[in-house]
Amino acid sequence: MSNRAYNFNAGPAALPLEVLQQAQEQFVEFENSGMSLMEMSHRGAIYERVHNETEQLVRELMGVPDGYKVLLVQGGASTQFAMVPMNLLKPDQAAAYVATGSWATKAIKEAKLFGEVAIAASSEADAYKRIPSLDELNVPGNAAYVHLTSNETIEGTQWAEYPDTGDVPLVADMSSDILCRPVDVSRFGLIYAGAQKNLGPSGVTIVVVREDLVGAPSMTVPTMFRYDTHAKSGSLYNTPPSFAIYMANRVLNWVKAQGGAAGVERLNREKANLIYSTIDASGGFYKGFANADSRSIMNVTFRLGSEELEKKFVKDSEAAGFVGLKGHRDVGGLRASIYNAVPLSSVKALVDFMGEFARTNG
Ligand SMILES: *Cc1c(COP(=O)(O)O)cnc(C)c1O
Repeated sequence: MSNRAYNFNAGPAALPLEVLQQAQEQFVEFENSGMSLMEMSHRGAIYERVHNETEQLVRELMGVPDGYKVLLVQGGASTQFAMVPMNLLKPDQAAAYVATGSWATKAIKEAKLFGEVAIAASSEADAYKRIPSLDELNVPGNAAYVHLTSNETIEGTQWAEYPDTGDVPLVADMSSDILCRPVDVSRFGLIYAGAQKNLGPSGVTIVVVREDLVGAPSMTVPTMFRYDTHAKSGSLYNTPPSFAIYMANRVLNWVKAQGGAAGVERLNREKANLIYSTIDASGGFYKGFANADSRSIMNVTFRLGSEELEKKFVKDSEAAGFVGLKGHRDVGGLRASIYNAVPLSSVKALVDFMGEFARTNG
């Protein structure tokens, strides 16, 4: 397809073209069933196979060890901001959070609705340009868990190495970097991610949770917001978002064909390095927002000398076929989101454009 945009949207974001084409082929009639997958009962054998295979693919590609549940739920990562404290926090405990940026701040705000929140570390004083170092972490003795945001989508920072929190379960929001690189799941108590950045369209949220953390919550929690509801029913307590799960299934199969998490990581680093080296070699024309040691390989944030020039960059880039390069309104500037499905060819086109823009506007 020749008219596909160079799509750098932050989320929902680019999907693999092969997946979109396969979905198109399978849309009206699924596997000689006489109907679309979206017209089928979620209790039927065909949907159930897609559902269970999706869970298995998450297990396989993330290397989820025994003793963990993989849940497919709704409500986005924003609902997990509430579900985590509702299910994990007990009376007299504190919920410890690492304040790294916009999404961590939203998670903290929500946790405060349910109990005491302790800030284990914060980079607010540095405008969230960096991820706190591991030795900055200060976890209170009564912490129920430590929550971190693996990749700050808006600021463009990412944990290079995760902290060891000992017996205190580590909880991670991986919405914008799940499966962008191999992760040792055994170090986490709970991982969650909305699908619409790296796993598919919006509508489904993946939760990987250690079984000992799935149990009766201490506080009153509505049925749909309890992890054990979804764990006991194989994520089929109520009608699941079947189309979103089908699409995630196809994206996961695509990741597998790229060589799994390690395969996509190689490509992700190549893509990120191309843009960061263009920024660093521009003689100050482009200025990276995040500190070098905290740079994200998923969201590259950068600025130009003036807001006027940034506006021109957005306008000229749109005229050249690029979409989604305007930074989030909270931090301004520019952002290129280069999730797994963004092809290397789009990134090469972007660095060519950046070079040309610097030459003509520098
Ligand atoms: C996008 C995003 C969210 C919010 O996800 P929703 O599915 O829209 O609720 C939360 N955390 C991070 C890190 C994100 O990138």
